[in-house]
Amino acid sequence: MIAPCGLPSLRATARALRARRALGQNFLLDENLLAKIARACGDLAGSTVVEIGPGPGGLTRALLRAGAPRLLALEKDRRCAAALAGLAAADGRLRVIEGDALTFDLAALAGPGRTIVAGNLPFNAATAILMRFVEAECAVARMVFMFQREVARRIAARPACRGYGRLSVMVQWSCQVEACCDIPAAAFVPAPKVDATLLRITPRSRPAPAAPRASLQAVTTAAFGQRRKTLANALKPVFARPEAALAAAGIAPSARAQEVDLAGFAALARQHAGWGP
Ligand code: SAM
Repeated sequence: MIAPCGLPSLRATARALRARRALGQNFLLDENLLAKIARACGDLAGSTVVEIGPGPGGLTRALLRAGAPRLLALEKDRRCAAALAGLAAADGRLRVIEGDALTFDLAALAGPGRTIVAGNLPFNAATAILMRFVEAECAVARMVFMFQREVARRIAARPACRGYGRLSVMVQWSCQVEACCDIPAAAFVPAPKVDATLLRITPRSRPAPAAPRASLQAVTTAAFGQRRKTLANALKPVFARPEAALAAAGIAPSARAQEVDLAGFAALARQHAGWGP
């Protein structure tokens, strides 16, 4: 990738950083791939773009090239934040913030207009970072995140499919999930042990079907915590009379968690919260 005038190249920046495994640092340096990720974010006009974990700045540069009018890059590693200072000085649209996406006040990142969040996430913190955005009150129009492939499959899994679980239900309840593309481990520097998948995750205007989040969390935790048991047994910790709750939700007492769809879990959550069917 050609560096903006006078700045070190992306490859030289990444080499100088010496990737740290503890921070999930597997960098992407392929310009075509980075442009593809930026394109997956859709039209950036009028948006505030938030990048999680810019590292040496490959995706940062791609997002700027794709026309991001305002780009906030949140990076935990002070060395990476410092490495991006030159790019931020050269391009006034970029602001680099040193901070931890697991604790940072996400509402403070939301801009005027819609907010689009992107990131080649550190695999070891990706699910936790995703769930922070999914559960945040701040309005995010779209998230485009890279996950290790097995985690991406769990997020996107449908009932009765491999990987379907609590994560699938909690994310799909409040967001639409689309797989954009698979990325082989060899595309990263250094290469991780696993392949990756890019997901586009679009929050719904309102989670659907309607249910209280805390009850959905309680019910799915119990159901998938004992996924081999029938729901009549697995739900005992959260319902005094699980069979009655299951009947009211239209679910057979012999069903197991992986057979129940979003509507079924939402109906159980409404029972749990005393909302009625
Ligand atoms: N975006 C760069 C790329 O595509 O080459 C780097 C991606 S690398 C997989 C993950 C980046 O997230 C690293 O730069 C790492 O330092 C940063 N990171 C790790 N944990 C983080 C956290 N909790 N909050 C913010 N950034 C984090």
